[in-house]
Amino acid sequence: MDAVDVIRTKRDGNVLSDAAIDWVIDAYTKGAVAEEQMSALLMAIFFNGMTPQELNRWTAAMIASGEQMSFADIGKPTTDKHSTGGVGDKITLPLAHTVAACGAAVPQLSGRGLGHTGGTLDKLESIPGWRASISNAEMRAQLRDVGAVVCAAGAGLAPADRKLYALRDVTATIESIPLIASSIMSKKIAEGTSALVLDVKVGVGAFMKDVDRARDLARTMVGLGSAHGVNTVALLTAMDTPLGLTAGNALEVTESVEVLAGGGPADVVELTIALAREMLEACGLGAGKDPADAIADGSAMDCWNAMISAQGGDPRAPLPVAPHQHDVTASSSGRVVRMDALAVGVAAWRLGAGRARKEDPVSLGAGVQMHAKPGDVVSAGQPLFTLHADDEARFERALEVLSDAVDIAAADAPWSKPDLVIERVGA
Ligand code: URA
Repeated sequence: MDAVDVIRTKRDGNVLSDAAIDWVIDAYTKGAVAEEQMSALLMAIFFNGMTPQELNRWTAAMIASGEQMSFADIGKPTTDKHSTGGVGDKITLPLAHTVAACGAAVPQLSGRGLGHTGGTLDKLESIPGWRASISNAEMRAQLRDVGAVVCAAGAGLAPADRKLYALRDVTATIESIPLIASSIMSKKIAEGTSALVLDVKVGVGAFMKDVDRARDLARTMVGLGSAHGVNTVALLTAMDTPLGLTAGNALEVTESVEVLAGGGPADVVELTIALAREMLEACGLGAGKDPADAIADGSAMDCWNAMISAQGGDPRAPLPVAPHQHDVTASSSGRVVRMDALAVGVAAWRLGAGRARKEDPVSLGAGVQMHAKPGDVVSAGQPLFTLHADDEARFERALEVLSDAVDIAAADAPWSKPDLVIERVGA
């Protein structure tokens, strides 16, 4: 095989053979296809797309580039969730433990935040002692004994994706539906879950800004999951407004524990329960314990405490608090009708909660606390946000991005709550 022939085939809008796909992914992972050649191929795919057969084979080759896990022997059905990322999206924290408390095993391999969206591992690392990195043997034992594991994916899982993702990032080829779908699904299929629920976020604070593209991505990923024997469904969910009342690592852990304790913001509770029911249904436990009961009877909280302890953390330890706070108040009285998720995410990032480059550290206490959400009636001068930072110098740039983040209309202006779950995409 020759990389130039493979590039030319795709550049001219023709279909790549199975053998060409297997070869090019394997050779690129091993360093035998040059970065500039794969860059050209990615750009050809960006413009010409892939047939379903090409995409299945491309994804299978990415899976085969590394280790494939299997939890078939742990004695419980496995089910997992993947979110395409949003602002204040802490749902994995209450969700994984609620689903595990209903009898499933949840092998939740998670990532770190990049840009304005937070990462589950960064959030959990605000718990003193908690470790994101655990061995396969520890993972297996924890799935059997505790039911939930939240950890970093090992370097052996879909190594082709690690290289391709880094290359896409610097060649303006991230925003291609087949490339996004194969990237996400290769990791999830290699992880060995038997069922998967995708939370595809749509709106100003999400990767996908419009419903049509989000639906296309969801259908493509559901098709790939089904083709590889993973029972996959997707929910398209709204990300115009941040989820919950916090964006930032320790702040979001506190809010997640409130949800597990039976309280917490209504939108976080609603989405946790909706995704939990889908995860249980997808792995065959839909007729068993209801997730709302697992929260109400404390078993979801017991599972959370057990997961934190098993991964070296102290669930009772105080969480980091940023030393500096700054309130942002309402400029007028009335009803909040818009709160821009992207602006809140960027503000949390500028306060230190997120990172610009993979190797940057994050501030565990930094972030944005919201005191009102769309639909709430506020008075002029009332706090809308409290900003938290380790360094007061960070407030100015966060304030800049929040200056146009909220619209306040007359208190009697018509307003109706938008649906949080927009659509379900099944196999
Ligand atoms: N997340 C991934 O893992 N891959 C993508 O391509 C986009 C988001």
